[in-house]
Amino acid sequence: MDSVAPLLVAGPLEVFRVVSQPFAENSYIIRRDAQPGCLVIDPGFEPDTIISLLDSLGLEPEAVWLTHGHSDHIAGVAPLRQHWPRLPIMIGHADAEKLTDPVANLSAGYGISVTSPPADTLLKHGDGVGFGGFEASVVEIPGHSQGHVAFLFPTEPMLVFAGDILFHESIGRTDFPDGDFAALAAGIVEHLYSLPDTAIVLPGHGEPTTVGHEKKYNPFVSAP
Ligand SMILES: [Zn+2]
Repeated sequence: MDSVAPLLVAGPLEVFRVVSQPFAENSYIIRRDAQPGCLVIDPGFEPDTIISLLDSLGLEPEAVWLTHGHSDHIAGVAPLRQHWPRLPIMIGHADAEKLTDPVANLSAGYGISVTSPPADTLLKHGDGVGFGGFEASVVEIPGHSQGHVAFLFPTEPMLVFAGDILFHESIGRTDFPDGDFAALAAGIVEHLYSLPDTAIVLPGHGEPTTVGHEKKYNPFVSAP
């Protein structure tokens, strides 16, 4: 099990991470100061590890936010909902069907069938979602998945939960049925490279990076 030390701290927010195999997917748990409510972003294939981490920190989730509907990012939603039956689930409107369709969420292709309860809230570009006294803005960037969103927290430094849009010196795959490299690249330039260089990008796989680092070194999408 991951250490109970936070991965990083931004202002009053502490971010913890659970890495789920077999896809090394990052699930993030965010709390404000040491308060008991937390947020879970993209609970993957190791929900028991997430539940143990929350138990050990004395945390209860207030909501699950999903960057997109691929199975490695949603596999833990149903188990968390079983544990906390009133837990609200949010996802970008164009990825809503992936929650309940194992073909669309790509799990059927791996010979398993992952589904999640349907979302309580469907998000669209420009929405604000609240947690911990902050309003995170929702930015829609299709290309890896049609309904992919990123969550931007106006902390200091800014936190960007980017799912599979932008990784450390890489980007999300665009060879899926609803993939589109041009849309992904345009969305990264318009909505992420326009953020402060110090903004911390917390991706769905791999280590955190910054907007400034990716503008300089990302080999797939260059800064304009
Ligand atoms: Zn994905």
